[in-house]
Amino acid sequence: MQSSITSNIITVKGLVQGVGFRPFIYRIATRLILKGNVENNNDGVLIRIEGKNEVIDEFLVLLHKEAPVASHIESVNVEQTSFQNYQKFEIVKSKDTSKEVTEISPDIAVCDDCLKDLKEQSHRINYPFINCTNCGPRFTIIRDLPYDREKTTMQEFVMCQTCHHEYTDVLDRRFHAQPVACNNCGPVYKINYQGVELSEFPEVLNLAAQIIQEGQILAMKGLGGFHLACDALNSEAVVRLRKLKNRDSKPFAVIFRDINAVKKYADTGETEEISLSSWRKPIVILKEKQPYKIPDSVSNGLGTIGVMIPYMPFHYLLFEKLKTDAIVLTSGNISDEPIVISNEDAEKKLAPISDGLLTYNRDIYNRTDDSVVFISNEKERIIRRSRGYVPNPVRLAFNAEGIFAAGAELKNCFCIGKGQQAILSQHIGDLKNLETFNFYKETIAQFNKLFRFEPTLVVGDMHPDYLSTGYVKGLNIPGLFVQHHHAHITSCMAEHRLDEKVIGVSFDGTGFGDDGNIWGGEFFVCDMNDYERVNHFEYLPIPGGDKVSAEPWRMAVSYLYKVYGKEFLEMKIPFLKDIPSEKINLLLQAIDKKLNSPLTSSAGRLFDAVAAISGICTVNGFESEAPMRLEAAIEKNNFENYEFSLNGIISFDPTIRGIVNDVLSGAKPSVIAARFHNTIISVILETVKTLRKERKLNKVVLSGGVFQNRYLIEKSENILIENNFEVFTHSKVPSNDGGIALGQLAIAAKRRSLGIFIKS
Ligand code: ZN
Ligand code: ZN
Ligand code: FE
Repeated sequence: MQSSITSNIITVKGLVQGVGFRPFIYRIATRLILKGNVENNNDGVLIRIEGKNEVIDEFLVLLHKEAPVASHIESVNVEQTSFQNYQKFEIVKSKDTSKEVTEISPDIAVCDDCLKDLKEQSHRINYPFINCTNCGPRFTIIRDLPYDREKTTMQEFVMCQTCHHEYTDVLDRRFHAQPVACNNCGPVYKINYQGVELSEFPEVLNLAAQIIQEGQILAMKGLGGFHLACDALNSEAVVRLRKLKNRDSKPFAVIFRDINAVKKYADTGETEEISLSSWRKPIVILKEKQPYKIPDSVSNGLGTIGVMIPYMPFHYLLFEKLKTDAIVLTSGNISDEPIVISNEDAEKKLAPISDGLLTYNRDIYNRTDDSVVFISNEKERIIRRSRGYVPNPVRLAFNAEGIFAAGAELKNCFCIGKGQQAILSQHIGDLKNLETFNFYKETIAQFNKLFRFEPTLVVGDMHPDYLSTGYVKGLNIPGLFVQHHHAHITSCMAEHRLDEKVIGVSFDGTGFGDDGNIWGGEFFVCDMNDYERVNHFEYLPIPGGDKVSAEPWRMAVSYLYKVYGKEFLEMKIPFLKDIPSEKINLLLQAIDKKLNSPLTSSAGRLFDAVAAISGICTVNGFESEAPMRLEAAIEKNNFENYEFSLNGIISFDPTIRGIVNDVLSGAKPSVIAARFHNTIISVILETVKTLRKERKLNKVVLSGGVFQNRYLIEKSENILIENNFEVFTHSKVPSNDGGIALGQLAIAAKRRSLGIFIKS
């Protein structure tokens, strides 16, 4: 029997735009001699295809099997249609340019085929900028749309004949790979060292490797910005880098030769390995293997290490020349400034704090840091969302067209709405830094241009002093201001396309509350539009206000004073002897007189207090050091709890008493850390159980910066599931303030749809 010819319309949804999907479809269709066409539509790719039934079946198999690495197919729908008698297969250009807006791919780590070409293709032997349609720079080099070479920072490089041939041959892996280049026509590296400049690549590479291997510091241009690099296994080099960077004791990220090298130093599970080796190539936070083999100065005794593996061709070539398995690769910046992206700035700011400077002559247009993730409950959780993730949109269940969400202040990231998509900016940073605030404004302008975005509604945080709030107020566009922790919860809801009443648990460091106090230990019953604050941690003064972010011991004094009055001074709690008694007395006076002692219900501040009382950390060398050390200290398999009180509001007076008793009786800090964490988890469980009973709600949403604590998120999620709750946690955007713009956007979209703009 003759097989029949059918005509089909295939709709592919998911992450299929801007990732070389249409040329891929073209290649498999022509390989199978099928006729028809392919085009992008609003939320996916549309394929019209004619041929024998069994060949179309084969086509559908290849569609999944050989899809470009950066694509992600969510659904494939096949519909039969009437016979069109197509004569060939072609790629149809999208007619409506507004539909092209999502066609910007994040940067993609160099692919295996290119790594092979790197050793085999005569014009690309060891070419450090090798790329193809499946890999290479994208977002970092795009100036404008459509995504053509002239609109990227590759514009000035004229393709040689060979490259041009590959670029125009639809069957070639480099067909329309905009950054295509080779040793004869593309960008080149150069290196400056002790007054000498080298530009022959083999020499450049040898010198770069020599600088690192000899324990010196190399400033090197990466994909989205500069890095400072040194041998991670050379303790002296790491200590010196820390000194030269002249800042804090924040852990350094480390790039390893390959996944096998990683395994020698850190514990990896299957999901960790998937994240590490994905095309996004983020920094993955891993547990260090004991006994620790990485010098202490890398992570400062946190017991974890931020790890990545090579993603630029240069990284691979560099490791070929190196003996060491691991290099520190930390952002090339000065204190809190954004990472340096231009060669001129590197010359000015990084050359003085490094021994060698490695640059190349292609510009970075969109600054992106390395992204940071961790794995818990087999899910990837993002802490810093930038290279490899941005500008992938988050798909929404509602229309957010024209909404600009300004984000918060620390770890800022903003968000724009295009149709049913939310496009979050890359990690911007702390807006209080002037350079960072300029980066914020520049990036907003770049996003407006790139995504053809014109805001018609703007939304910011209620905090009157956030620079992002001020920015929103300065725009002459209708705006609204939303509560910080409501936005945290709706951010997680938007990720999961939830649009109903839920129980929201927002544990955070800070955030402006409706009553003018600083919130952060909040239980809400809320929906996208509004919230009710049904419970929260008891208010305590923060003596010295903002100073607490550097001196968590202040919060310990506040809690001890609340629980014991002045008696605590006689109690011989070890950490107190490190703090001058005049300082403590001043603090107590400030609390009594309510001088610069704002009230807070923040969970983050409670963690600060406990870290100090238990003697784990009294002064922060970097942001959130105290809670991070408290988490790192947790004793395994300890399921004990402290008491707490849930009469009315949530009081930790009994918890503090329990901790102090433990400290005075010489309990190990690791035991205190475990008992305290378990207590917080019990508070969550007990509170949401009560709310379930009272409000008949079963969906629990967890968000806020405190849920970056791996122990807390993992155990809370598990225990809530065991108790038959439906639990929603973040994985696409950070639970910290880097994800809050998504929540702001969601609230604004909801209120707009309801015709409510300003909450009284
Ligand atoms: Zn490639
Ligand atoms: Zn070429
Ligand atoms: Fe927050």
